[in-house]
Amino acid sequence: MEPNLPPSGAFNLMRPAWHRIHPSSSAGDGELFQTSLMSALLSGVYEGTMTYGELHRHGDFGLGTFNDLDGEMVGIDGAFYQLRSDGSARPVQDEQKTPFAVVTFFKPDQQLDITSPLSRPDLEAYVAQATDGNLFTAVKVTGIFDAMRTRTVQQQQKPFPPLTQAAAQQAIRTFQNAAGVLAGFRTPAYAQGIGVAGFHLHFLTSDRQGGGHALDYVVRSGTVEVATLHDFHVELPQSADFMKATLTGGDVDAEIKSSEG
Ligand code: ZN
Repeated sequence: MEPNLPPSGAFNLMRPAWHRIHPSSSAGDGELFQTSLMSALLSGVYEGTMTYGELHRHGDFGLGTFNDLDGEMVGIDGAFYQLRSDGSARPVQDEQKTPFAVVTFFKPDQQLDITSPLSRPDLEAYVAQATDGNLFTAVKVTGIFDAMRTRTVQQQQKPFPPLTQAAAQQAIRTFQNAAGVLAGFRTPAYAQGIGVAGFHLHFLTSDRQGGGHALDYVVRSGTVEVATLHDFHVELPQSADFMKATLTGGDVDAEIKSSEG
């Protein structure tokens, strides 16, 4: 008996199976590229100097936000989208800047077909079982979603409040029977504060008209693809705000769970 399987025999029979797929190899395979730190965002460092044009050289799949915390970014199929708190969605322009973003060039190495509805915890358990918690994993879920509850942060004015306060004004939206894509990452627990430990996924509807940071959902049907990433590159800001920010102390773990949960 395989030790990782759940105890229920009936559940095992229904259990979807992962298929290994072999991506074509090329330079830059498997690198996660990040600008700034989650702890800096928690501290209210909402002005980055990196443009999305520059970011695009390091990846085209992933998530992040915008200067002044003006919405959620999701990168899918080679393009970045900006999801704003007024519910609008638009392609990101190269000159727009980001205070925090995490991207990769997505080349999946395993795939799972979803044959029965999975809640967020179910989906996370399947991905956790198939990947290594001490490595970074890019996660893409393409399918039909129910009870997809998203949040979108609202543009902030100076002096910037810390993220836990800014997140209190977030716009919440729920999508039903929505075709779309979840894109993001599973981050090791040891990287809490550098990034968001555990699962962090952003949603985009397949018509590219809505989405946000995924809070909760059910995947009715679809496909999960994962890519294990062995290289982790963080580019730290050179701004005075970043230099002055307090990046240790406080309860980073609780603040991230409160603002990114
Ligand atoms: Zn997010």
